[in-house]
Amino acid sequence: MHVLLIEDDVHVGAALRSALAMRGVVLEWVATGHEALEAADGCDVVLLDLGLPDVNGFDLCRALRAGTDAAIVVVSARGTVDDRIVGLSSGADDYLVKPYNVDELLARVRAVLRRRAIGLASRPEPLRFGDVEVDVPGHKVFAGGEPITLSRKEFQLLVMIAAADGDVCRRERIIAEVWGETWPGANRTLDVHVGYLRTKLGRPDLIITVRGVGYRLSADAAGRTAR
Ligand code: CA
Repeated sequence: MHVLLIEDDVHVGAALRSALAMRGVVLEWVATGHEALEAADGCDVVLLDLGLPDVNGFDLCRALRAGTDAAIVVVSARGTVDDRIVGLSSGADDYLVKPYNVDELLARVRAVLRRRAIGLASRPEPLRFGDVEVDVPGHKVFAGGEPITLSRKEFQLLVMIAAADGDVCRRERIIAEVWGETWPGANRTLDVHVGYLRTKLGRPDLIITVRGVGYRLSADAAGRTAR
């Protein structure tokens, strides 16, 4: 495992280097953002301190994300929810707040590497039903070969119903998974979204309403005999 530490604090960097060396992990270590981009080339993991003297840590994180395939774990004294959100949306794979435990840091690094390896190796086959194709990780939908633009919720709805492959998706489960909560008008909202979805797909018979229960793919589309 090739690890790059970007950390301007000499004490923090030296302590981490020796703690990781004791665990069999050798660090490359740079103290400025300007050295970081070149050093990150070919690394498996970058441990990024956000508070650097020469660059904004979030900008560096974005530049690293754009310029390398390395996993990025932000290691920062800045631990507010906002900092975490900005860090993760700047391309970091994980975010750890100082002071941290070295074993936890290593466990997080290994988990990030595992997730990335799985993501790269096993990009799933698109879901296909009838002449509709859904590339789930790519967030793309094609009907009859034509790209269809769906809202986020419409897309989630379609994936849920399609993944059930002809079995009924119950209303309460769809609402819980797509909206994350229920409310008095939830059923009506669900029906409206399914209506949009049918219209955008241009295939009104693709999604069947099971009255009072939920929705399912048509037997034809699911590739099954009627059930
Ligand atoms: Ca710092």
